[in-house]
Amino acid sequence: MTSLYHDIIFGPVHSRRLGLSLGVNLLPTSSKLCSFDCIYCECGWNAEHTGGRRFNAREDVRTHLAETLRRMVAEGTPPDVITFAGNGEPTLHPQFEEIIDDTIALRNEICPSAKVSVLSNATQLHRDDVRRALLKVDNNILKLDSAFDETVRLMNNPQSATYSVRNVVDMMQLFEGQLTVQTMFLRGECNGRQVDNTTEREVSAWLDSQRPDSHAPLTYIEFFHSSNRVCFMALHKLEEYTRSNGLQVIVVVREEAAKIEPALRPYLSAKLSVAFDDDNKTFTAFGVQYVPFGVLIDAKNRAVWMGNTLQLTPDLLKSF
Ligand code: SF4
Repeated sequence: MTSLYHDIIFGPVHSRRLGLSLGVNLLPTSSKLCSFDCIYCECGWNAEHTGGRRFNAREDVRTHLAETLRRMVAEGTPPDVITFAGNGEPTLHPQFEEIIDDTIALRNEICPSAKVSVLSNATQLHRDDVRRALLKVDNNILKLDSAFDETVRLMNNPQSATYSVRNVVDMMQLFEGQLTVQTMFLRGECNGRQVDNTTEREVSAWLDSQRPDSHAPLTYIEFFHSSNRVCFMALHKLEEYTRSNGLQVIVVVREEAAKIEPALRPYLSAKLSVAFDDDNKTFTAFGVQYVPFGVLIDAKNRAVWMGNTLQLTPDLLKSF
């Protein structure tokens, strides 16, 4: 079953990751328009949507968003986040940057506590205006389902023949850690073909692609929960190791981004990023029984140490 958003502004919806989320749809309200055609797309497949390929006008987006924000604030239910998503890929809009500027101005004026998020498939990162706009928002959430072109072709059906994961990852690195990578891990069959991006080869290559510095000798996956004060001690220690030992750190959390983001923001850098484990699969896959807990991975993607992060010492790091 597929569904389209029939308005420019939709929701709000309660997102486990983002909180109370007010949606903005820059794409047609009666059709889908996307540079991907993912096999799992909630909007349906591109071939089902051949008409109505018009973008919503910048002025209409601003007017509708202002009205809705004012109403929600007056009712005492301001959104936690304004999220660009909808019937396709928002960054395809030719005035995407201007619309982001309008949105930030409205947010600052009407609803200053709300974050601005963009859910994008990362196919437009070659455009300077799109990269500039994504650097202005609070949550720059970019899709990368696999490190292999052939798997992306199977899962996401990029509409451009020149799509290349290498190019996308290179562009992602220009954000210097100011991004969240979103991945749909799945296994199954579609149109008679096996699709599985959960194999060891896939996950290992995906993990490798996420390293801001792919030449870094060691990467640490830190499992974190904000209710545990010791996790903050561990995070502080890891931040030091990013500077003193060149460690790359990926912090895995299963809390709402809206709730956790203010606490983690001071620690973020090109060497320390956050991954959201929405469905608990990463915690489960690593058998996490307690936090702070972490796994140290070497340049060949081998887990060389795991345990309580407070027991990770500079001498231990140097021994690998
Ligand atoms: S990128 Fe999003 S909107 Fe586009 S096809 Fe994939 S799931 Fe659908």
